[in-house]
Amino acid sequence: MNSFPKIAPYAASTDSSRGRSYPEDAPPYRSEYQRDRDRIIHSSAFRRLEYKTQVFVNHEGDMFRTRLTHSIEVAQIGRAIARALGLNEDLTEAISLAHDLGHTPFGHAGQDALNNCMEDYGGFEHNLQSLRVVDELEQRYANFNGLNLTFETREGILKHCSPENAQQLGQLGERFLNKQQPGLEAQVTNIADAIAYNNHDIDDGLRAGLITIEQLREATLFEAQYLQVKEKHPDIGTRQLTHEIIRHMINQQVVDLIQTSIELLKQAAPKNIDDVRMHKQTLIRFSKPMHEQHTELKRFLRQNLYRHHRVHRMSVKSRHILQKLFTAFFQDPLLLPPEHQQRLSQLESSLGEPGRARVVADYVAGMTDRFAINESRKLFDSLELT
Ligand code: MG
Repeated sequence: MNSFPKIAPYAASTDSSRGRSYPEDAPPYRSEYQRDRDRIIHSSAFRRLEYKTQVFVNHEGDMFRTRLTHSIEVAQIGRAIARALGLNEDLTEAISLAHDLGHTPFGHAGQDALNNCMEDYGGFEHNLQSLRVVDELEQRYANFNGLNLTFETREGILKHCSPENAQQLGQLGERFLNKQQPGLEAQVTNIADAIAYNNHDIDDGLRAGLITIEQLREATLFEAQYLQVKEKHPDIGTRQLTHEIIRHMINQQVVDLIQTSIELLKQAAPKNIDDVRMHKQTLIRFSKPMHEQHTELKRFLRQNLYRHHRVHRMSVKSRHILQKLFTAFFQDPLLLPPEHQQRLSQLESSLGEPGRARVVADYVAGMTDRFAINESRKLFDSLELT
């Protein structure tokens, strides 16, 4: 066990928080970050994650990860790390659950398609869109648009950002211009995200039959765990073997990350969250050998799973669907539901064509996979007249 106090001085805390854009009274029985997490869970964008693709399009099967189960796994891994390091668990959970709120339908293929459509209008980036969802698009409160989350949660959601976009984001964009770090909870979530998807994509890829255990044995981290499990349980069945390997891989990565970060924190000795932000490098990191193994696994998945012809076919088809939807709504906004038409005329009158494009992108990005597929049928299949 480590000797860290329950909440370390360099963790985010309500006392050192940079607060909310619209000041609100403190909640009586919850921390500010619990309130953020609760607002995220009650948002409509969060519910829609259930029907958005992670790697496998949602209707391909009920066993695969969706954006929702992915986000829950990130939160689980993130909280375990945060607790071990004396960081703020509630904030880590809030960032984890919100980090993919801006994802389009159909995973990365959807994001690429929408980015192409928005090429002349400032582009589309899912990370920035997650921030847009919590800052503007959710409409639930009488006094403000968005969820009015704390600075620290918003800082964690915005993982990366171009200098042009950063200039428009005020205090939140500063760190990208000054090359500073986010708080430790944001750093934890960032790596918890990668640990979660690497491992669950292996599980889903094996389940779908797109990759094999034999192929995966090329990857050092997988092979080491494979040999250990096989030695202990020579007659183990394939499903159990897969789960044993994956759970050991997650554990190894989490333990390595915690141990390495404890050392880095000892050396850097930040006194508070602002010291963390000013530090030249991130302080939540894998050891060098683990970083290499982690990168090797990512490379394996890129080559063998994300570019697999069956995944690629779905990507091409889904890009096509989103491009057609975007063009149809952009050319004829009367096809949009009335409230989106209203937003479109407001934004178009203040920003011109980029405003029109942004509202269409917001609408398309907010769709679930199945809503986009149905909408595409309704609009482009001449036999569907609704
Ligand atoms: Mg993610």
